[in-house]
Amino acid sequence: MIFIVSGPGGVGKGTVVTRLLELRPDLWLSRSWTTRPRRPTEPEDAYVFVDRPTFENRIREDGFLEWTEFAGTQALYGTPLIDPTAVEPGGPDVLLEIELDGAQQVKRRYPEAVLIFIVAPSTEDQEKRLRHRGDDDEMVSRRLAVGAKELEIGERIADHVVVNDDVERAANEVAGILAGYSDPG
Ligand code: 5GP
Repeated sequence: MIFIVSGPGGVGKGTVVTRLLELRPDLWLSRSWTTRPRRPTEPEDAYVFVDRPTFENRIREDGFLEWTEFAGTQALYGTPLIDPTAVEPGGPDVLLEIELDGAQQVKRRYPEAVLIFIVAPSTEDQEKRLRHRGDDDEMVSRRLAVGAKELEIGERIADHVVVNDDVERAANEVAGILAGYSDPG
């Protein structure tokens, strides 16, 4: 199974995913590539950090399951092609944490992929989280505007919508959703 966790920036989907992986250590989390610089607070393996020509080479080689230029940031993000053995029966479930454009690409390629869309309890909450992360004012406004559009599309196409009012609760809800796909009946 492929599970996609998506949602507007600042809804705390990264934190939910971190907790989810503690609840479900058997899940295989895909590591994305990005051309954006590493944040000082970020571990070196948060992404595969590459320069633009390296990323563009991999696009030409058809090396991505999906990729996108994240709205307004001029940075490229992409999911490397998944090892086919990982999506065969008996392989581990795959987890992608990506923005909505990429999520739509994956859904087109694997219609059976399950899209879980995480939303913030309120716009104020989302804004607070974006600021807390250290993004500047302009970036915060840009991401909020993108987020409003994403919210509309995401709620329409998602298989499940989860409100991140509390990380523990939200992660448990997502774990319950995942369990529903592996339990017979
Ligand atoms: P950030 O720069 O805050 O780490 O990530 C920005 C956005 O890009 C987030 O919404 C994150 O989920 C998304 N993202 C991370 N990796 C990928 C990827 O491989 N593909 C796509 N489409 N989005 C990604």
